[in-house]
Parts: sequence; structure tokens; C-alpha cells
Amino acid sequence: MADNFDAEQKRYLEGFSHGITAVRLTGGLGTGAPAAPPAEPTGPDAIHIKAQDRTVRNGGKLAEQEKWKRAENPFEGHNRLIAEAATGKAPKPEDNFRWRYHGLFWVAPAQNSYMCRLRIPNGILHHWQFAGIADLADAHGGGYSHVTTRANLQVREIGPEHGQPFLDGLVDLGLTARGTGADNIRNVTGSPTAGIDAQELLDTRPLARGWHNHILNDRSLYGLPRKFNVAFDGGGILPVLEETNDIGFQAVEVLPGAAVAPGVWMRLVLGGITGHRDLARDTGVVLAPGECNAVADAIIRVFIENGDRTNRNKSRMKYVLDAWGCDKYLAAVEETLGRKLARVDPAHVKPRGGFDRYAHVGVHAQVQPGLNWIGVVLPVGKMTSDQMRALAEIARACGDGQIRLTVWQNFLFSGVPDAKVAEVEARVEALGLSTKASSIRAGLVACTGNRGCKFAASDTKGHALLIADHVEARLPELDVPVNVHLTGCHHSCAQHYIGDIGLIGAKVVVSEEGDTVEGYDIVVGGGFGEAARIGTEIWKAVKAEDCPSRVESLLRDYLGQRAGPQESFQAYT
Ligand code: SF4
Repeated sequence: MADNFDAEQKRYLEGFSHGITAVRLTGGLGTGAPAAPPAEPTGPDAIHIKAQDRTVRNGGKLAEQEKWKRAENPFEGHNRLIAEAATGKAPKPEDNFRWRYHGLFWVAPAQNSYMCRLRIPNGILHHWQFAGIADLADAHGGGYSHVTTRANLQVREIGPEHGQPFLDGLVDLGLTARGTGADNIRNVTGSPTAGIDAQELLDTRPLARGWHNHILNDRSLYGLPRKFNVAFDGGGILPVLEETNDIGFQAVEVLPGAAVAPGVWMRLVLGGITGHRDLARDTGVVLAPGECNAVADAIIRVFIENGDRTNRNKSRMKYVLDAWGCDKYLAAVEETLGRKLARVDPAHVKPRGGFDRYAHVGVHAQVQPGLNWIGVVLPVGKMTSDQMRALAEIARACGDGQIRLTVWQNFLFSGVPDAKVAEVEARVEALGLSTKASSIRAGLVACTGNRGCKFAASDTKGHALLIADHVEARLPELDVPVNVHLTGCHHSCAQHYIGDIGLIGAKVVVSEEGDTVEGYDIVVGGGFGEAARIGTEIWKAVKAEDCPSRVESLLRDYLGQRAGPQESFQAYT
């Protein structure tokens, strides 16, 4: 065995208990004892163990998180985690990582408590689940929830001893938070208007639910080299940002003359990760909807076997794609599947329908005559528990009982009869919320920021609202949707690179002694869908207090110089 392992690595390789399967590498470690016969890893974690062993055999030094996974599988160690949390103590770093497999994130020092991120396939909840989450947030958390940029909910300020009771409460509601953190497949997004949208080509709900259940029932799909995102876009009027996901499935209409039968297929795009300035690339592959799970599963298994387990900054699937190219990656997927995938020339794919960038706000007619969806604006995603219970009651009394979260940090009521629309609007206004938004507020997105996330350089949610207030007061003539995205750090949870205007948190030095204040680097010209583009940085280290006027000046320039409202802000930049 090579000598380039440190003592810790050797200890690891000698096969200390990882709670599932003791593993030794062929040939021992130079202890002088005869080599033990190689033990082939078995069980659901074998694919990961083999990949770790291969990494070490090739001279790689495993990342800390890989050693934590190996030392104690987070699912095997759950009872120990529960017992230690019951004492009220903060978890050790390695246990914080393990808790994330169960959906709990210890977020000190920003908040001395857990945040819980749920799993909500296609972002759709029943009214009683929505109200139940509010009750749990009251009983165990801070009494409020945030809608995330993955059409999901997060509950914060959950004390150590309240973490497991909160998770148990989710199960009582038919929900789970399993695998929403650490190196796992995150909440699956789908078109928020699935099944109610006249433009859609395909209803994403069964696909998202199927993928959700596929993940939950296969432990070998946990503990990837890094986190992983999957999205289904049904071709509706409201974007789901599938091009920012590791795997995006896009409903498209294939025209006669292609290599496959004409009709609706799912086009496969791979490798989106905007924090690393990359959007998903079109593979040319199209799938029958029923194939998506099996193909996504194979894509992930290729990633599990070949993703980087040594450098956390290079361990997303994008880096395997960069190194191999799409063709080699797809060949490996086909080998895993045992069959070829169908491909079509883009010339045989009908251009997709456009988006309505206001479709997540206000009243819109559904494909079902006489019914409507109504988008409610939330101040950068936040709702109190009292508001949630009242909103749940509106959904029950006036709609189809469902609440549909969107990646725009808000939600839709669906199935609202024409005769109930005015009542819904009035009841929402009475809660201090609204179904109407200005051009700037409709496209306002902000991550948690430093009020709740230790990585944040700035108070993104607070500054986002200041920008909206400032622009609304000074530019009432702004008549086109403009997306302003504020993200607190390079993790890019608010996807600043695809905003028309994107702000990423930065500490701004304001004195020779090195004193700093909160601020941002600013990018412009990002976009999504047919206009997908990574924005370009134009200013560095702008103090937060100056950002509202900087945004105003960009918008004022645009309004003064554009040919007309048909010219988007992105086109102007
Ligand atoms: Fe935290 Fe950074 Fe994500 Fe914002 S982008 S929520 S600061 S990790």
C-alpha cells in the first residue's frame, strides 16, 4: 500500500466501523500481517464505499465529509443523534452534517438553533398540511416559515431538543425532510401550474411524485459526492428554472420526421449550477415521460461512481461533465441502463411556449373553465404561522384545497371559482399580504441572509425589501418585469447570476483599519428559460446602503434608452 496516506487516512482504510459493512482494502496496510482476503462491500452503501476506496487507492485524500459518512452512516446513527439532541446540546460539526440527512441544519452562530428544510414534491401541499406546518413552527420553531427558491418550506429557530419532535410531526402530516441537506438529492421541483395551465404540454405532478418516492425508497441514492437537484418543467407559462438543476427535464413537442415518434417528450438537460456560473446543457436526448426515473437514477449512479470526493468545490456533477464531455457521460449512463437513449435533432423540436413573468402573481384563468389560480406575494418568502393557518383556510374554503409553492418564493391558490376570486383577494389583503405586486416586487428573490445563515455577508432579505421600497417610490413608470436576486454568499441560493440584476453579499472595507460594512458585488444581464444567461459583474463591493440607488440608476438608464417595453432589461444590458 502506498505511503502517501496520513495516519487518519490509514485508520480509515483499515476499516473502522462505519455502522453498515466493515470494509478492508486488498493487501492490508503494511502491518506485516498476511493480507486479509478482500471483502467486497455489500448493501445499499456499497456503491459509495467502493467509490471512496477507489479515490484513496488513486492517491486522493478524502474530504472531511466523506470520512464522516464512512465513520457513521447518518441513518444508522439516528438514535444516537436523537439521544444527544435531547440533552439540549448543540451538535458537533460531524453530527451537524449527519443531521442534514434528516433535514435539520444547525445554523449557529446566525441563530443558535436548527433550521428544518422540508421535502414537498412539485411544491404542492394540502391546506391541512400547510396549517399543520404552521402549528409545528409554533410548537417547535420561531412561529414563521420561509418559501425557498426550490418551491419548498423552511422552518427556523428549532431548539436542539425540538428537532426530532418537529420531524415526527412532519411524518404525522404525511411529509418528510429526509435528505434535504448534505450530499443528497434535494426537493424535486415541478411546474407550479401543473394540470391547470392551458399552455402546458405535460402534467409534472406524477413525475415529481414518482421521483420523490423513488429517492425515499432507495438508500443507495443518499450520500452522493455532493448535493444534487432535479426539476421537471411541463412547458407551462410559469418557469421552474430547470436549467439551473443538475438534471432538468423539459417537456417539448417533437415534430414529424425526427428519429422518434412525433408528440410530447422530455428533453434532458444536464449540469446546471449557477453558483458556478453554469447553466444546464442540452444533451439532445429525449425521453418518454415514463423513462425519466430510470434515466435520472442511472445519471446519478454514474455521478456517485465518478464524482470528486476530495475537493468540495469540484464535487458537483458539472465537473464530471466538464472533464468528460456530454457524450462520454451519456455513454456511461447508457452502459448503466443497458440500452441506448433516443436523440433528436433540435430542428425537429418545436420552439417552446414563452413565459409570463407575472404568472406567479395575481389572478389567472385555468384551463378548466370558470376556475382560476391566484398568486400571493410574500415579503421575500416569509409568512407567520397565523398567516399560514388563515391562508390554509382560504384554500379550503375558496379553492381546491391546495397550496402550490413556486421557485419565486411565493405560492398559488388553485381551483378558485370566478365567484370566489374577490373574496380570496380581500381575505389575503386582510392578512397584510397581497395578490398584486409592482414590476420590481414581483421579481424580488432573496436567500436567508445573515439573519439566519452563517455564510451570509449581508442581510439579503432586509436589503431586498429596501431596494423594492426605493424603486417603487421613484420609478412608478417601470412597466416591465425585472428580476432582482440577492444572495448572501457564493452558494448562490437566490441564483443571483440569473437575475436581471443580481447582488452577491460582500464585506466592504470602509477604513484603513480594515473595518467593514455589509455590501454586495453587482451583476446584470442574467436570465432564464429561452433567455437563459449568466450575468456579468459590473460593480464590486458596493455598500448595502448604496445598492437601492444603484439599482434605480440601472433601471433609469434602461427606461431612458430602450426602444420600448418590448425590449427587455436583459436585452438592453
Ligand atoms: Fe446562506 Fe449563502 Fe445560501 Fe444565502 S446563498 S442562504 S448566505 S448559504
